[in-house]
Amino acid sequence: MYNYVIVGAGLAGCVLAERIANVLNKKVLVIEKRNHIGGNAYDYFNEDGILVHKYGPHIFHTNNKKVWDYISNFTDWYHYQHRVLAYVDGQTVPIPINLDTINMLYNANFTQNQLKEFFEKIRDTKEEILNSEDMVISKVGKELYEKFFKEYTKKQWDLYPSELEPEVTARIPVRTNRDGRYFTDKYQGMPKHGYTKIFENMLNNKNIHIMLNVDFKDVIDDIEYENLIYTGPIDYYFDYKYGKLPYRSLRFEFETLDCEKYQEVGTVNYPNDYDFTRITEFKHLTGQKHYKTTIVREYPSSEGEPYYPIPQKKNIEQYKLYEAEAQKLKNVFFIGRLANYKYYNMDKVVEESLKLFYQNIK
Ligand SMILES: Cc1cc2nc3c(=O)[nH]c(=O)nc-3n(C[C@H](O)[C@H](O)[C@H](O)COP(=O)(O)OP(=O)(O)OC[C@H]3O[C@@H](n4cnc5c(N)ncnc54)[C@H](O)[C@@H]3O)c2cc1C
Repeated sequence: MYNYVIVGAGLAGCVLAERIANVLNKKVLVIEKRNHIGGNAYDYFNEDGILVHKYGPHIFHTNNKKVWDYISNFTDWYHYQHRVLAYVDGQTVPIPINLDTINMLYNANFTQNQLKEFFEKIRDTKEEILNSEDMVISKVGKELYEKFFKEYTKKQWDLYPSELEPEVTARIPVRTNRDGRYFTDKYQGMPKHGYTKIFENMLNNKNIHIMLNVDFKDVIDDIEYENLIYTGPIDYYFDYKYGKLPYRSLRFEFETLDCEKYQEVGTVNYPNDYDFTRITEFKHLTGQKHYKTTIVREYPSSEGEPYYPIPQKKNIEQYKLYEAEAQKLKNVFFIGRLANYKYYNMDKVVEESLKLFYQNIK
């Protein structure tokens, strides 16, 4: 007899299992359909001994001290701050766009104030922002939109920015200073011994049992339990009764090279060239020393694992139908990126999971 069954051993499932087992001293069964814990944040040492992220590069960053302190119970940190360059017009320049980006691109020598004036001159003030294209053009004008955003968005979503809600690009920063960090959150880092170690530490409790390689629907009727916490896709839970929610997927192409270093920074974006969106070199992120290096190229695709909910109004409306069904259920809690059909960063998943625990779990 379990007090809680948790479907999914990703970040949301692990945080809740850990809290329920440690704080409430209750019995938890975690059911995971993959052959490993950790969900999309899972990492492992590849055959050459290099630590890689199976589902794409993950960097932990947050402004929420409670979240940072909570995760710090399960790991020490390698104090890494992510840097990204974009390959544009045959050279690599910092992204998000900042003073250095513009000076390199236009072979200029702007000061901060001159750059502010430059943006004022080139930006196209729209009366109404109807979509993501309007949003970007209203900040940086048409030319920079075309160099950095238009084709990258098309590759990523198979949609042009003009077909996406304004919110998709609303939070993309454009800086007039020389801050070359990708994230500006107060707390940033990489777990010193990898993400999987965090999950192992969270689940290491006699109250927690784990079943791997099992889809919950194949076993749930044979298990005695009081409450269910579901972190899988919400449409699958309800047998797709309102149709399949659309997702964008990725194909990851890993390559290990016989050299110590491949590129200048952790990630290089390719907005206009090639079919992949970006290349990440893991050793930059993890600080690992090794005589070889592993990189991953990301190819967006419509087939495969569900990674990114597609941010269009019709999809949100479809999700709301499922959400209304979920709210009718007693003793079943829906949490995490798949159950809430939202793109969440890891810190948001921790925040939401802790909120659920402290407000609703007894
Ligand atoms: C390419 C990429 C890069 C990212 N980079 C970052 C980053 O740099 N920083 C950051 O903060 N966030 C990043 N994220 C987001 C991060 O991956 C998520 O915030 C986090 O993994 C969400 O955790 P979760 O528990 O909600 O979902 P998941 O990690 O997806 O866990 C859900 C689990 O449920 C399991 N499951 C599903 N259905 C069933 C079923 N029927 N039966 C049993 N088990 C089931 C799944 O196998 C999965 O393991 C990135 C995401 C992607 C796709």
